[in-house]
Amino acid sequence: MIQIKDVHKSYQMGNNSLKVLKGINLHINEGELVAIMGSSGSGKSTLLNILGMLDEADTGEYILDNVLIKNLNETKAAHYRNKFLGFVFQSFNLINYKNAVENVALPLYYQKVARKDRQERAIKYLTKVGLGEWATHLPSEMSGGQKQRVAIARALAADPKLLLADEPTGALDSKTSYEVMDLIQQINDEGKTILIVTHEEDIANMCKRIVRLKDGVIIEDVSVNQVRAAAYVQ
Ligand code: ADP
Ligand code: MG
Repeated sequence: MIQIKDVHKSYQMGNNSLKVLKGINLHINEGELVAIMGSSGSGKSTLLNILGMLDEADTGEYILDNVLIKNLNETKAAHYRNKFLGFVFQSFNLINYKNAVENVALPLYYQKVARKDRQERAIKYLTKVGLGEWATHLPSEMSGGQKQRVAIARALAADPKLLLADEPTGALDSKTSYEVMDLIQQINDEGKTILIVTHEEDIANMCKRIVRLKDGVIIEDVSVNQVRAAAYVQ
């Protein structure tokens, strides 16, 4: 589903250039649940933004579902982003004056889905994340965990091929984090391909595969069973 080949990315700051990704190679198959791990500043968000078509690599190739993502005009980029990708962020990014069901329906509005369908699908996904009863509540009336569930429902509403989550549990206490990860695992069990950026080992261990970044290169890429086995041997 995803092929990243020798991707490099630098940021220009005045006369200085900061190399952030230094030759990333990554293949992700349909149905995987992958954690991208690494300390702060290692390039995780930069990589996720490239995967999410929010940014482009300087050099190298990104192929998403057999489409080469390169030099696309904004209309085409938006088309693929809408069709392929769902996003979840650490800070939820819900719209405060819209209730839960309106938040979930919003991406469907941008995709010109008819009002009745939008409403039905939004309710369906809110129910899926366990918030069917909370449809008319505002984000301010919800806990952090509930808000992240709404954000997950919103990300799923247009049935994307790939769900990208940048530190989805970063603003949650550990109990709530595990509950949100349980939900993410359940969505993955139903077949969705999911990529999570996290710097928490516990959270990464709830994924099936861990890709570890350090200073812009992948230093480890293992299935979680191997990680556990390695810990056991030590
Ligand atoms: P992570 O998500 O692993 O913490 P990032 O990908 O956000 O890392 O950032 C990697 C490095 O690139 C950091 O040193 C960060 O300060 C820098 N960086 C990120 N975004 C920008 C930007 N838009 N302009 C300049 N530097 C950036
Ligand atoms: Mg980051």
